[in-house]
Amino acid sequence: MPIRQHYLASHKRLFLVDYDGTLVGFTDNPDDALPTAAALDILKTLSADSRNTVAVVSGRDCEFMDQTLGKLPISLVAEHGLYFRDRSGTWHPTVPLNQDWKPAVRRILESAQVPGSFIEEKSMGLVWHYRRCEPAAGEHAAAHLITDLELLAEPELKVADGSKVVEVSIVGVDKGQAARHWLEQGEYDFILAAGDDTTDEDLFQSLPATAHKVKVGAPSPSANLTVADPVELLELLRDLAH
Ligand SMILES: [Mg+2]
Repeated sequence: MPIRQHYLASHKRLFLVDYDGTLVGFTDNPDDALPTAAALDILKTLSADSRNTVAVVSGRDCEFMDQTLGKLPISLVAEHGLYFRDRSGTWHPTVPLNQDWKPAVRRILESAQVPGSFIEEKSMGLVWHYRRCEPAAGEHAAAHLITDLELLAEPELKVADGSKVVEVSIVGVDKGQAARHWLEQGEYDFILAAGDDTTDEDLFQSLPATAHKVKVGAPSPSANLTVADPVELLELLRDLAH
């Protein structure tokens, strides 16, 4: 069924939308990647319909999510599924918090001394950012870091090669886990997920085949729709809800 007809015919809908590169375009400084008026508007429109459950599922930390989207009546997921904020505004961790692995991983990330790179600390992850680096130097250092991190062979850790980031986080915490939180709560007859990078694959793969899985950017085998960029995604969402 075409997506708009499916939307109109459905009664209990779930939207799981990534933030960076999906709802909002990338910027050199991640702190500058703020939601546009158009993005806020579509989130408001969708969440105003009582048939819709809307969640933004991001790798960002809770504080950033609160600051950018905290005033909207939507659910928020931070750090790829580690924290869940209900509509009352309270954050809950979804797994026990162990941080023992951090010093060894930080030492490895600090070994990549590429101008413009920086390390972001999250409660359950460390992220090496290289968007501001000279591209070839950044890619080269990222490949080395991934090899070194994999040599650590920590079974509880996973290493993701994201969009100009190398991200180390705890296994079992992913966006798929975040999606299961909702899937266990009820029967949705319309599900739309949208994302732009490898961490969103976990989300796509956790959803039933009937879900609309929208990849932003290059197509993905686990998605069934592709849009070019955040602007096109917002148009798709606006067309559904108008
Ligand atoms: Mg993203």
